[in-house]
Amino acid sequence: MANSVRVRFAPSPTGPLHIGGVRTALYNYLYVRKHGGQFVLRIEDTDQKRSVDGAEAYIQSCLAWLGIQPDESPAHPGNFGPYRQSERRNVYQKHILEIVESGLAYYAFDSADELEGHRVDHEKKGKTFIYNWHNRMKLNNSLVLGEEKTKEKLDNGHPYVIRFLMWDEKESSVYQCPDSIRGNVAVDCKLLDDKILYKSDGMPTYHFANVVDDHLMNISHVIRGEEWLPSLALHLKLYDAFDWRPPKFAHLPLILKPSGKGKLSKRDGEKLGFPVFPIQWEEKIMGYKEEGYLPVAVLNFLALLGWNDGGENEIFSLEELISLFDLERVHHAGARFDPEKNKWFNQQHIQRLSISDFCSLCKPVIENHGFVVNDENKLRSIALMIQSRVVLTTELWRELKVFFEKPDVYDPKAVKKVWKEKTKGLLRAVVDLLSDDGEASLGELQDALKRVAEGAGLGLGALMGPLRVVVVGSLSGPDLLSIINTLGAKEVISRIDSALEAIE
Ligand code: GLU
Repeated sequence: MANSVRVRFAPSPTGPLHIGGVRTALYNYLYVRKHGGQFVLRIEDTDQKRSVDGAEAYIQSCLAWLGIQPDESPAHPGNFGPYRQSERRNVYQKHILEIVESGLAYYAFDSADELEGHRVDHEKKGKTFIYNWHNRMKLNNSLVLGEEKTKEKLDNGHPYVIRFLMWDEKESSVYQCPDSIRGNVAVDCKLLDDKILYKSDGMPTYHFANVVDDHLMNISHVIRGEEWLPSLALHLKLYDAFDWRPPKFAHLPLILKPSGKGKLSKRDGEKLGFPVFPIQWEEKIMGYKEEGYLPVAVLNFLALLGWNDGGENEIFSLEELISLFDLERVHHAGARFDPEKNKWFNQQHIQRLSISDFCSLCKPVIENHGFVVNDENKLRSIALMIQSRVVLTTELWRELKVFFEKPDVYDPKAVKKVWKEKTKGLLRAVVDLLSDDGEASLGELQDALKRVAEGAGLGLGALMGPLRVVVVGSLSGPDLLSIINTLGAKEVISRIDSALEAIE
């Protein structure tokens, strides 16, 4: 096969997709785009009780917003569908019977009460009850009951589960699990339980469905979160049980809280005041999109949460990430999530935008505030003035506003600082200057203003502070002369007049 790389992102639709999941999707995407192949989105919804309405659509919208679209998915099926596990029941049924027949899985009829009884008994003796080689021949299952009694129970509709015969004394108990990031991870199979693979409601558990689907969907590389590393031995033994060749596995490091202590949780965002979801979820939870982040910045900082290319540079486009990404350089240790660094990434990407792309960001913001943009040159000069001042796109209007609206308030602290006895007279002189010379004089504005100030026995500084306050409303903002130049004499005169009335 020319293109043998196939990766998958396999979320369970149990709620909004948080950045841990997004990073997993991204690493899969980078890997497959670098090596050529297909990126599959598979919805793992075998646990229907935990499935949440709208979560699948949300996952697809997030990937679309970020620009890391799958090649095959429930919405765009390829040749390996269905891509929702809830639609693959017959596939699992056929395969579970296969390993039951080969003796590697067995029916277990123990009731919840029976199991709880065993658990309590063990606890009293200071032990932990594990359903495995140690005691499976003393429990209520087909290994003990034999074929006839098992069939009788099944025919009578007795509830059951199917368990995997994880390990028995004939085998060596140490199992080597190869992981592309960690090397070989040795696991003692003696300590593992006979996991439930299938339930009598006809639904497989995650472990079984996941392995069957990865095989049937021809997945070559499983790139997923570290929380699945403890399941790797089970998954590899399931591949053995079917005599299937396993994919290569890579388990990604945890994303840690900003404090570095513990795993970043979905609730941390709300608690600590930063987004942890790509886009808005329901009414209350805002995502990176709504909080003013560019998709490329989100991808960039997520890519660096657990990987780097070994160089000094941290700012990459998606194309650069694809060409540099390498599973071997993914870290073992958890990656600390730093919300301030995320903002820095966003600012860097905003500054990297071409002026015309930055204008395209500004234009809808201006229009949403009810203004028409018909002078592209003016938009461009405004954009040039504010681009370096924006960290989040939610700040765009704060920077743009001055070019479209008169100040609605004059920052009292600024007024207090710059408003002196001679200020009103000075500003009136500026009005005269602008009315006399009109637009034409704006080119030599600085000299003209200097002359006005000198006329009152002051330096230019004594004029620029108050002038900024009346034009902008505060002492911040881009270069004042450039603002005045863009606004034009008429607008500046009108702003001075309004301020002279408003400020005592
Ligand atoms: N459904 C699992 C999850 O949501 C997928 C784990 C895997 O990639 O194997 O985490």
